[in-house]
Amino acid sequence: MKPVALVTGSSRGIGKATIIEFAKKGYDVVINYLSSEEEALKLKKMIEETYQVQVLAIQADVSKEEEVKNMVEEVIHTFGHIDCLVNNAGIAIDTTFEDKTVENFRRTLDVNLIGTFLVSKYVGKYMLEKKEGTIINISSTNGIDTIYPESLDYDASKAGIISLTKNLALQYAPYIRVNSIAPGWVLTEMNQELDPEFVESEQQKCLLKRFAEPEEIAQVAVFLASRDASYINGEVIRVDGGVNNG
Ligand code: NAP
Repeated sequence: MKPVALVTGSSRGIGKATIIEFAKKGYDVVINYLSSEEEALKLKKMIEETYQVQVLAIQADVSKEEEVKNMVEEVIHTFGHIDCLVNNAGIAIDTTFEDKTVENFRRTLDVNLIGTFLVSKYVGKYMLEKKEGTIINISSTNGIDTIYPESLDYDASKAGIISLTKNLALQYAPYIRVNSIAPGWVLTEMNQELDPEFVESEQQKCLLKRFAEPEEIAQVAVFLASRDASYINGEVIRVDGGVNNG
């Protein structure tokens, strides 16, 4: 029986790279997306043609409880178990401080933080029945110390994910390991509208002088899910290429 990995928000970016890494390692995989159906189905086909694993693609908004419940039930109906969950779905609505609205703030918290809670809650139930599983929550260095008023709502959601990770690790002990990854800048669509001068100045702050490729985050997620990480729990792994604090 193959292990099963569900990665939320996996039609593109870091989530897509994570699905591919899990498939390479022989996991059956569940792609989740909100509106990118074409990308999700293309990814499903590519994985089925390349790796000897089973693939499900499920549309569900992680911020909506009923949709999360249905998604998790479909996974259990198909595979009978979920071994690894990566809470990766996320949004950022960057604006000036003056333009920040309550609606944008709430939506960001709903998807990034409440979504992580909801999917963990429904998947955790099945992992607890089996008395094993791993959950990996994608936070950000913005949740620790790379903060920007333009993304203060996003930064708060990512700080919340770190707190949630520690509480879930406690709640699910000793059966489910729960960890978080805090990436720095990653080359995905989320950052495609950034001003080139800003990108250059952010790259100069990084010791490796570049943004990460999505695969460089995905490989850490797959490591955290594996037995090689069997004693890592309730932890935040920073993956940002190093910063100059001197
Ligand atoms: P991305 O390229 O914008 O992709 C976001 C993914 O999340 C898409 O698959 C999208 O689905 C999905 N999604 C958005 N809202 C959703 C919802 N309500 N329900 C289900 N799925 C939803 O983002 P990314 O850069 O890969 O980021 C992935 C994660 O890493 C996020 O949590 C982000 O905050 C975090 N992160 C990113 C960076 C970075 O520099 N890129 C740095 C640190 C942390 P659709 O395609 O259907 O819209």
